[in-house]
Amino acid sequence: MSTMSDAKDETPPMLPLSVPCLQGREWEYVKECLDTGWVSSVGAFVDRFEREIATVAGTNHAVATVNATAALHTGLLVAGVQRDDEVVVSTLTFVASANAIRHAQAWPVFIDSEPKHWQIDPDLGDEFLTGHCRWQNGALWNRQTGRRVSAIMPVHVLGHPCDMDALLDLAQRFDLKVIEDSAEGLGAKYKGSPVGCLGDIGCFSFNGNKLITTGGGGMLVTNDSDLARRARHLTTQAKSDPSEYIHDQVGYNYRMTNVLAALGCAQLEQLPMFVDARRKLADKYSSQLASVPGIVPLSVSENAFCTHWLYTVRVIANECGMDRQTLQTELSAGGIQTRPLWQPMHRSPAHGDAYTMLSGVADRLYDECLSLPSSFQTTSEEQIRVVQQISDRIQGSNGTQAA
Ligand SMILES: *Cc1c(COP(=O)(O)O)cnc(C)c1O
Repeated sequence: MSTMSDAKDETPPMLPLSVPCLQGREWEYVKECLDTGWVSSVGAFVDRFEREIATVAGTNHAVATVNATAALHTGLLVAGVQRDDEVVVSTLTFVASANAIRHAQAWPVFIDSEPKHWQIDPDLGDEFLTGHCRWQNGALWNRQTGRRVSAIMPVHVLGHPCDMDALLDLAQRFDLKVIEDSAEGLGAKYKGSPVGCLGDIGCFSFNGNKLITTGGGGMLVTNDSDLARRARHLTTQAKSDPSEYIHDQVGYNYRMTNVLAALGCAQLEQLPMFVDARRKLADKYSSQLASVPGIVPLSVSENAFCTHWLYTVRVIANECGMDRQTLQTELSAGGIQTRPLWQPMHRSPAHGDAYTMLSGVADRLYDECLSLPSSFQTTSEEQIRVVQQISDRIQGSNGTQAA
């Protein structure tokens, strides 16, 4: 009963930015939940998914949550972040990192990005902690705001790890808890160690557009059994008696259901394949785009195993004669979906009143960056079409041929 006009069929289908790939044992595992009635927040798949994510993350413990925002919120609370504390975080991130800090009734301090790998700039972090804060009564205080600084939240943006040695050094010197926002970083490694296991707590996202998905879901990982126990407690309404309904604090209903964990287990079986495909796609994009003037990919650190969650380039307007927004619009007209990075948090109407340490890098990356189609299903032909269209549209490249 299609009522579509035939004219519509002339445009080829939009090449999507990123779509999930659900071609493993997802149906089988979900069916098992439905057949056995284990659909809710306890069940064998929740236990298994937690165990397996802990293995991937290189941690002793994992606690499954409804999403990564909830995991980050919980992580901040169990790490000891108090009301009106400040948490150091990258200004270039998805809004959920900053929101989680506000959910914990704390305040973000937005630190700009370093220009090479686009992650939080440890030197600016150092400048803030050294130059803008002071020690008193065994705690570190922001001299301007009078607030205690208690934690740092490195965000591994786009699946590229932050400079963790420098950040862990800051954390140690200034006695900060480290909550890694690894939402985009599943499978990524820093000097051979998975992201998420380097700080006190790490958090992953299984949202629809992430590397693996449960539709919506998250995970808190840690090596600290006490933190894990308290996170599990807090995310299950802080129920303190196995049979009686007694709750010893105000908890949260943040637990992942068995149905979603079943999806997660099936997805996780495909993770190495997904990571490998993303990295190969990134290699191809980078080598083919090398001849296009003004298109500059993320430069990967020698310490990084980068998953290229979304393959992203800078569009340098005065070199390619076109700004990012125009290129985005033109690619969209040509049936290719792309997207910008996030408005830096210090510009966000939701978070505009926070303390900041800025260099202008995040603003520039926001202006310039465009993420290109990066699905597991993106074929070589599609990927070459993206490169060809970019190269065709950029003034002065004169139709540079894709390799
Ligand atoms: C996706 C994402 C989140 C939030 O994940 P949800 O599971 O959607 O809550 C947090 N931080 C970053 C950096 C993200 O990309």
